[in-house]
Amino acid sequence: MWKKAAAFFVIAIGFAGTYLYKVWQTPIPAPEPEQVAVEPDPVPEPTLFYGYVVDSLDLVEGKVKRNQNLSEILLKHNVSGETIHELAIAAKPVYDVRRILPRKKYTLICERDSLQTARALVYEPNRLEYVIFNFSDSAFVRRVERKVEIVEKVTAGTISNSLAVSMSDQDLSPQLTNDFADIFAWEIDFFHLYPGDQFKVIYEDKMVEGQSVGIGRILGAYFQHDGEESYAIYLDQGNGPDYFDREGNSLRKQLLKYPLKFNRISSRYSGRRYHPVLKRYKAHRGTDFAADRGTPIRSVGEGVVTEARYGKYNGNYVKIKHNGIYSTQYLHMSKIAKGIRPGTKVKQGQTIGYVGSTGLARGNHLCFRFWKNGYQVDALNVNLPPSEPVTYENRIDYEVLKDRMVNRLNKIPLDSKEKLLAKGV
Ligand SMILES: [Zn+2]
Repeated sequence: MWKKAAAFFVIAIGFAGTYLYKVWQTPIPAPEPEQVAVEPDPVPEPTLFYGYVVDSLDLVEGKVKRNQNLSEILLKHNVSGETIHELAIAAKPVYDVRRILPRKKYTLICERDSLQTARALVYEPNRLEYVIFNFSDSAFVRRVERKVEIVEKVTAGTISNSLAVSMSDQDLSPQLTNDFADIFAWEIDFFHLYPGDQFKVIYEDKMVEGQSVGIGRILGAYFQHDGEESYAIYLDQGNGPDYFDREGNSLRKQLLKYPLKFNRISSRYSGRRYHPVLKRYKAHRGTDFAADRGTPIRSVGEGVVTEARYGKYNGNYVKIKHNGIYSTQYLHMSKIAKGIRPGTKVKQGQTIGYVGSTGLARGNHLCFRFWKNGYQVDALNVNLPPSEPVTYENRIDYEVLKDRMVNRLNKIPLDSKEKLLAKGV
């Protein structure tokens, strides 16, 4: 409105100026804008809805019902079977009409008459896009992606119970909680937090038309656990996103790829393999390393022993929790190493047992199992990016980035429950 008025004013001044110049052959000073801006706007602005001028049309909103398809919705709004057929053909290369799902929102743009004949239907499969089915003049189908705006946000909180509870108390998305816990997974055991531990985050929020549709990257994070402070700064050195501490070291600690000196890999992780003892197909959720009996088995990373005992199938085995995400398990040992029992802290590379064939095993081997977030994954395929520090070439840039991030994180007020916009922080 203001812009229109201003534009009108400029045009008015132009006309008036030219006229007066012609009359007096001399330019006059421009009048105060307020004097002209009161002129009424001659053309009312049209109401646009998905690109349609809808001032003289009706909008009918609905949600797709179970087993309802496009033609059913359209037939109810006086669209002929012929038009629907035409539309289905036009839709083919753009949007498969069979993908129209229950509970999704649609809007019909209808004539404002007693029949309420539909002119177009706008289907919204998600908040990131919508599909226009137009059938008034010519049948066409268009898929439109909404503009995603990245907004930097900051938040902070004090733990009373768990990180997830403290974050959801502030209406923060579970994805932010997960991403945050992932960053500090090697430093902090999020299952054993103390009341009073504190967090701060600078993150990207993906916005569509003023509404958050998801979390982008975490750019900087801070955690204070039991009085100890940790910072995490986002940097991509070309190997994908990574987080570094104030010294420029990766927050991730590398796990050893192999827990022993082995002769060969006798069986790989697979969803289905022929079991040599059971003589039937069965999933094998581990990697078998054939090795000489008595070969020392080492923990692939620092951690705490959670299980160390004999099992009918596993034989003598040890399970180690490395952090809130990763655990590893070592099966069929001839013997568990001395002092290895639940609760024992182990270092990376420490011997925890010796190769054998106890339990359901044939031949001396280690069955090595890798757990991520409670699920077994292929140890040889688990995606652990390298945990190298900030490279020499990136050092100077990193120092600048780090100072700025640490500064911003320090400025976030801790006890403020309200979410602050990153502006000025
Ligand atoms: Zn195995």
